Amino acid sequence: MKTREKLIVDGKRLDGRLPEQLRTIEMKTGVVTRANGSALMKFGNTIAIASVHGPRALFPRHLQESETCLLRCRYNMAPFSVDERKSPGPDRRSVELSKVIRLALEPTLFLEDFPRATIDVYVEILQADGSTRVAGINAASLALADAGIPMRDLVAACSVGKISGTLVVDLTADEDNNSEADLAFAMLPSKKKITLLQMDGILTKEELNKLLKLAKDSCEKVYETQKKVLKEKYKRVE
Ligand code: ADP
Repeated sequence: MKTREKLIVDGKRLDGRLPEQLRTIEMKTGVVTRANGSALMKFGNTIAIASVHGPRALFPRHLQESETCLLRCRYNMAPFSVDERKSPGPDRRSVELSKVIRLALEPTLFLEDFPRATIDVYVEILQADGSTRVAGINAASLALADAGIPMRDLVAACSVGKISGTLVVDLTADEDNNSEADLAFAMLPSKKKITLLQMDGILTKEELNKLLKLAKDSCEKVYETQKKVLKEKYKRVE
């Protein structure tokens, strides 16, 4: 077990990153051919896949909303995604994360344009090394765009926090588990609208403000990669 004091050595983190440096980002669309849209997103060793199905008719009918479309999200961590096998199936954590992912995505969609329908978003974590909910949101937003569903903007997400007294971005599992504070953040970058803000731990007001700035800057970087990956997809279509 690493102690909090050792998470930063000579100004660098245990994986060699500077405090404000994201892990290597990788993204790809169209990874699940049966889905209407899909995407893969990696923050270093964290791997998330999102698969989007719909808009499609919602059954059973009594669940249908006459004025709007139901967005349903399911976050799931594969049993092999962590060192010690995770027991399969939903638990309190996955129910919470499914809900916050839905709330982070909903503001970007025109759900009222598809009454009585549903859009299903499945987020599968293949490998978990911290920041899985934000990796899931990035993958899901890209998958919604890949499905051709109208959106106000992409949703870009990242984690930030405080480890060994230093403010950092994109926490690994070690960093998350030994942090003084950690914060999950998502936004619609061009609309400047925040759609997820969850925090654990204690920060001063100044630290919180600095972290929010770091989170916005990191989301901009994620957003640039998301746009690049989508543009490449349409280049392939030409
Ligand atoms: P997030 O993955 O969004 O940061 P948490 O803060 O709940 O969410 O989890 C931090 C990290 O802890 C995860 O990314 C994962 O690496 C690890 N973790 C979470 N749940 C488990 C579990 N059941 N077994 C082992 N590791 C886990």
